[in-house]
Amino acid sequence: MPTPVFSALQRVLRDENEVGGYEAERRAQGDLQAFYTEFAGLLNADPDEIAFVENATRAWDMAFYGLHLEPGDRVITHGSEYASNYLALLQQSRRLGFEIDLVPSDEFGQIDVDALDGMIGPKTKLVAITHVPTQGGLVNPAAEVGKIARKHGILYLLDACQSVGQINVDVAEIGCDILSGTGRKFLRGPRGTGFLYVRKGIIDQIDPPFIDLLSANWTEANNFAFVDGAKRFENWESYVAGRVGLMEAVRYARKIGLSNIETRVAMLAQDLRDALEGIKGVSVHDLGQQKCGIVTFTKAGAEPAAVEERLRADGINVSVSAMPYARLDLEPRGLMSMTRASVHYFNTQDEIARFVEAVKRA
Ligand SMILES: *Cc1c(COP(=O)(O)O)cnc(C)c1O
Repeated sequence: MPTPVFSALQRVLRDENEVGGYEAERRAQGDLQAFYTEFAGLLNADPDEIAFVENATRAWDMAFYGLHLEPGDRVITHGSEYASNYLALLQQSRRLGFEIDLVPSDEFGQIDVDALDGMIGPKTKLVAITHVPTQGGLVNPAAEVGKIARKHGILYLLDACQSVGQINVDVAEIGCDILSGTGRKFLRGPRGTGFLYVRKGIIDQIDPPFIDLLSANWTEANNFAFVDGAKRFENWESYVAGRVGLMEAVRYARKIGLSNIETRVAMLAQDLRDALEGIKGVSVHDLGQQKCGIVTFTKAGAEPAAVEERLRADGINVSVSAMPYARLDLEPRGLMSMTRASVHYFNTQDEIARFVEAVKRA
């Protein structure tokens, strides 16, 4: 977490401690408004197309569970879809009776856009995909998917949780209708924060699954109206310090420049992949024509969980991506689990060299 983000959290929490929650919120008004303009600038959206949601999963849910899907409808997704999203697809398909179609991967392991074009029929209502999966360096061709969704006039829901903050994500260029993301990953924001983008033109096609006195106005005893814009997906009560912290994280990233970040992260990750591939017994598993800052690998004879433990002892944090969290992706590839390392722009070549030595010893 960068210092300005930490300072913002401290500032709001100190106010809550000294003058109470309401007064603290009042003092933070300017920063709370800046949340929308900073995100609008980051994503090339309008401020009223942005909502604060407590994490990326609930942000995605607030849109998805509000879509009108009926028996016989079809929803297209891909094997790289995030587990929680796919679980929600399964739950809603059980309830509502729509069918889930999986778009195949092309020879690079990314979404096959030609196949997607051919799969869309009159009953297809939604394409829901993940830009960068949690379990690998793959960057799906999100803008190509957007062109096809537009051509057929169907809704396009993009999980950009692992891409916003490491890749220059522009909703107009991608052509998505809905996009969800988190604060805590490449944006370097606080835990327990997330955001949702909903394009103005489609907002009335979504019936928010939960409403409250912020998202709707109680206009008459037996009537209500949603507030304008994406605020209808928010909660009245929320983590004010976290909102301000996330706003500072976006401001910080934009000062560095998302294109600068994207270039450096991709370069460091590729150096790491090249170095890992030079170690005997190590296999790198990242798919895709374009790859990002997530690097996944296995080492023959070493369990990923044991590698994680060993690296932690060397002061290096990695995580393990396991099959039950990515069945559609890892099961067909016969991968039970992999070690996942993520680089960011602040990492150095020295750290990569140290990492590679530690993997050799592990
Ligand atoms: C981490 C992750 C999420 C969930 O983010 P939270 O903020 O933890 O809810 C969603 N999608 C992808 C691709 C992720 O990697």
